Amino acid sequence: MSYKIALYPGDGVGPEVVTEAHKVLEALPVAFDFTLFDWNSGLYASTGRCAPEDYLDRLMPFDAILLGALGDAAKAPDHIAVEPLLAMRKGFDQYVNIRPAVLYEGVDCPLKNVKAGEIDMVVIRENTEGEYTSLGGRHYVGTPNEAAMQVNYFTRMGTERIMRYAFETARKRERRHLTSITKSNALKYSMVFWDAVLADVAVDYPDVTVSPMLVDAAAMNFVRSPRMFDVVVGSNLFGDILTDIAAVIVGGMGFAGSANINPTRKFPSMFEPVHGSAPDIAGRGKANPIAAVLSTAMMCDFLGELDCAERVRAAVRMHLTEGKVRTPDRGGSDSTSAVGDDIVKKLQG
Ligand code: ATP
Repeated sequence: MSYKIALYPGDGVGPEVVTEAHKVLEALPVAFDFTLFDWNSGLYASTGRCAPEDYLDRLMPFDAILLGALGDAAKAPDHIAVEPLLAMRKGFDQYVNIRPAVLYEGVDCPLKNVKAGEIDMVVIRENTEGEYTSLGGRHYVGTPNEAAMQVNYFTRMGTERIMRYAFETARKRERRHLTSITKSNALKYSMVFWDAVLADVAVDYPDVTVSPMLVDAAAMNFVRSPRMFDVVVGSNLFGDILTDIAAVIVGGMGFAGSANINPTRKFPSMFEPVHGSAPDIAGRGKANPIAAVLSTAMMCDFLGELDCAERVRAAVRMHLTEGKVRTPDRGGSDSTSAVGDDIVKKLQG
């Protein structure tokens, strides 16, 4: 049996980091059947789109999708370029976005007195509704009465299932602690509802300790006391913002992998680095591919290839601890592909 994997490198540094992640997957003792989809912002000028109209149908038969990054402002408007990303999350009901943040040995932490291993959290972000539902509109455009409205839409089903996933994740970890990100002091409908669903679901998980935390306090505490976090659950917008902070405190955007999961497996799940297309460094072999490589470990976890997932993480750990090959974000001058090659070497060693 082989796993059918769609490679969707996209824009900017996406192709550079996906090439390295692909190398790592090829080095594992598992049969993967890869198909490359060369869809990106370059298609916009000739087609008015950044992917063909039937892209979801074409991705549907795959077990998993490995995405690089979408967005190249020089070639296509951003909201059109990222449309396939949001469409995959919603169309494939990838309602769980898992974003771990681990401070590895050999990585510089921008925070004072924080050592390797002291940051080890996983943010579970709701991925299909909330603030990113695309409900709303603009009215009286270009007139003095111009108005815009964007609706935050939280369903009980959507909120409950993300809470349950977060509790289940916490239950499997040593500390068994869940922080729920809220703003119920100001958002008195959506976030009061979020807190109420949390309380309802918590009853089924007496073995997990829970603390609600306001999003502004969480932003402060990610920087001030990152050790306090184990599993964190947040809405689409709050999770999006907090995971950029989480990435930076464990070394930068080059270290943060992620998974967009449909736990029912009715649809393919998608794996991608948290970072975007990084136009400032794209095309120069400067991108750190570790975020994309760690995303392949999450893919292996999801496929049930737990041994391979652990081997990839162990190879990354060895590569970082040794610290001989470094992209510029780690103060080195090695290339994206040199890092990929070194990780493969560790994997095979
Ligand atoms: P998006 O809105 O799509 O998340 P963005 O433009 O906000 O994208 P990124 O593309 O993630 O942000 O880039 C943010 C910063 O992080 C940039 O300075 C970029 O160079 C850096 N960066 C992003 N990815 C990497 C990487 N893989 N290696 C090194 N630096 C990176």
